[in-house]
Amino acid sequence: MIIFASHNQHKLSEVKSILNRDDIKSLKDLNFNEEINEFGITFEQNALIKAQYISKLYPNDIIISDDSGICIDALDNLPGIYSARFNDDGLFNSCNDKVLSLMKNKENRKAKMVCVSCIIIPNLEPIFCQGVLYGYILHEEKGKDGFGYDPIFSIDNVKSISEMSSDEKNKISHRYQAFLKVKEIMDKYV
Ligand code: IMP
Repeated sequence: MIIFASHNQHKLSEVKSILNRDDIKSLKDLNFNEEINEFGITFEQNALIKAQYISKLYPNDIIISDDSGICIDALDNLPGIYSARFNDDGLFNSCNDKVLSLMKNKENRKAKMVCVSCIIIPNLEPIFCQGVLYGYILHEEKGKDGFGYDPIFSIDNVKSISEMSSDEKNKISHRYQAFLKVKEIMDKYV
């Protein structure tokens, strides 16, 4: 069995489409509803923590995890690994509102979306694959599709990722680039 160690259904459908396979189980499919404590300080560490946690429960299966987020130049690469919980202080309505507020007077709008995947194949050392998508933080939210920071992130400083079709996004995204490498690994070992 191949398990994608994430609760995020958006990510799962992106990953299934990139790997071009439908036989990947999500944590939801396995009725695993626990949140895995991501205590690492890098994307790699957090991807490894998630993959190892699930691998201990399913030692004979192939586990693929990912950790991802957005790193913004002018904010010293924040939110980075804190992307999913950047608004946990509750001071803003959403993570996007917080970023837009912190970026209000910043001229340097450069940012990157980063994805690191960790693959655990029984009897092999964990393998890491990384993908990066470079772009800019817009001045306001645009578009309704996608998830997370998609409405405020743009690769051309005009159109947000949310305004792209999922097919368009899946051809360029940080996750696409990381999972193309995952696909090579899967083709080689699985
Ligand atoms: P993770 O589930 O720990 O990898 O957290 C990733 C967080 O980064 C998500 O909750 C989103 O806020 C953000 N993120 C990751 N990938 C994307 C993406 O493709 N678009 C927009 N936001 C993303």
